[in-house]
Amino acid sequence: MLSDIEIAQGASMLPISKVAEKLGIGEDELECYGKYKAKLSDALMARLRDRPDGKLVLVTAINPTPAGEGKTTTTVGLGQAMQKIGKKAVIALREPSLGPVFGIKGGAAGGGYAQVVPMEDINLHFTGDMHAITSANNLLCAMLDNHLQQGNALGIDPRRILFKRCLDMNDRALRSTIVGLGGKMNGVPREDGFQITVASEVMAILCLASDITDLKRRLGDILVAYKYDNSPVYARDLRAEGAMAALLRDALKPNLVQTLENTPAIVHGGPFANIAHGCNSVRATKLALKLADYTITEAGFGSDLGAEKFLDIKCRYAGIAPSAIVLVATLRALKYNGGVEKARVGEPNGEALRAGLCNLEAHIENMQKYGVPVIVAINKFPTDTAGELELLAEYCRRRGARFALSEVFERGGEGGVALANAVVEACEEPGCFKLLYDEKAPIKEKVETIAREIYGAAGVVYSPAAQKAIAGIEALGKAELPVCVAKTQYSLSDDPKKLGRPQGFELSVKDVRLSAGAGFIVVYTGDIMTMPGLPKVPAAEHIDVDGDGIISGLF
Ligand code: ADP
Ligand code: MG
Repeated sequence: MLSDIEIAQGASMLPISKVAEKLGIGEDELECYGKYKAKLSDALMARLRDRPDGKLVLVTAINPTPAGEGKTTTTVGLGQAMQKIGKKAVIALREPSLGPVFGIKGGAAGGGYAQVVPMEDINLHFTGDMHAITSANNLLCAMLDNHLQQGNALGIDPRRILFKRCLDMNDRALRSTIVGLGGKMNGVPREDGFQITVASEVMAILCLASDITDLKRRLGDILVAYKYDNSPVYARDLRAEGAMAALLRDALKPNLVQTLENTPAIVHGGPFANIAHGCNSVRATKLALKLADYTITEAGFGSDLGAEKFLDIKCRYAGIAPSAIVLVATLRALKYNGGVEKARVGEPNGEALRAGLCNLEAHIENMQKYGVPVIVAINKFPTDTAGELELLAEYCRRRGARFALSEVFERGGEGGVALANAVVEACEEPGCFKLLYDEKAPIKEKVETIAREIYGAAGVVYSPAAQKAIAGIEALGKAELPVCVAKTQYSLSDDPKKLGRPQGFELSVKDVRLSAGAGFIVVYTGDIMTMPGLPKVPAAEHIDVDGDGIISGLF
């Protein structure tokens, strides 16, 4: 089989205006970035405001192996399959970050015959949104350091600056830095650090903002630092939010591209799924709902992280609800959860597969708690054996779980027809979506609810630092916000080694921080890396471009 990039380069793409036409979008509602990418104008959003919403389908997964289990691939393939069975569908995805592209994981534009294209553009600079977000973030930092330099009228304590610079790159050398060295003319020396752009609060804000006015308000609400007198400093105290929003004006507009089968896809925004909420922008999803009968979208990591946040943060703020949830499961991730080491998950091992089924069970139960029908998508890998696939299918039958085999990686939309039919059927069931908790509840109560209901924890323990931080957030009057837990993606618990369905554990909260602009409270259950590093052999070593401008080695 060809590599992802070879398949992508063989695609016959339609001009983006033709893709837009399928959705009834006029030429003047498109802002084209070359032939195959366009931003969707505010005028389009305004025109569709009163149109009824289509159905929303969320794609999530069980706890993955480190390579990813195919949520993006399934999302794209399902969109293609919807088109195959004659449904009007749009795919809504996150924008890839350069960190994983050049690191271990590779691109995030799907795989095999289920990809969005042009994949090189989408994975690399795309329409410049990452640049805009990085610039807006760093403008705030520059204004803050300038404020210190110019006399520090606000009395900002340079030891208590929370907001960091950012860069869209895995660059561990920048995690902890000292800025302002070199004498009086070169700033006030202080400790600083960089995050990867997708971990920036500005990214989370862009993805939750409903329009420019809301964007500006949220940017102004960013908690930047504390003063010597302990009072908070917000971005608006530095008068930064106007210029930041100006930098983000175009980045706020969703991007339209297409799949290998010319299905429309909106790719917009890409916040981390640990310290942020991990799904594409609210504006992209809301627009997709107006444009098509079915919107297929993905949330990062497993259902314990991505889907929980999609439902409890994004759906809460956007006032939307999924009609069905697709839960991606793979034999290899089930075996991994059943105790097989990473390198051997491709080998047949019925015993480990059976042992790992408890993980799938937990994720099905989790999603049912939201009152939304669940469909298990068995994402078939080339190494999967018929016997083991049948074992998994049999488990689903016995459990009464709706399921379908998905072969979109190898066969594109055609390989997802069974899944598409199952999704359409599930969407017809009367929905009774409910959020997991009331955001007005005390912080600890919200964390407890997520820990017990979704992770299966027996309880929650807090470090002294976390206790103090919670009291601080309450004192600021910001406790009535949804909670965003930063946790390992590999386990339902906070310990990446506890696989399967851990029980009786206590979730250990190390720290709590306020993302006041984004509008959530981040609960840290371990050391969460907000600036990843590159591996020993980074993917970048294999990426190249030839004399004709053809890029190779992206995957
Ligand atoms: P996720 O969105 O869950 O992180 P992706 O869809 O990005 O996962 O897939 C992760 C990697 O696995 C990609 O390189 C993709 O090409 C590959 N992949 C996904 N599904 C399959 C499959 N069925 N067979 C082979 N490779 C797959
Ligand atoms: Mg993905």
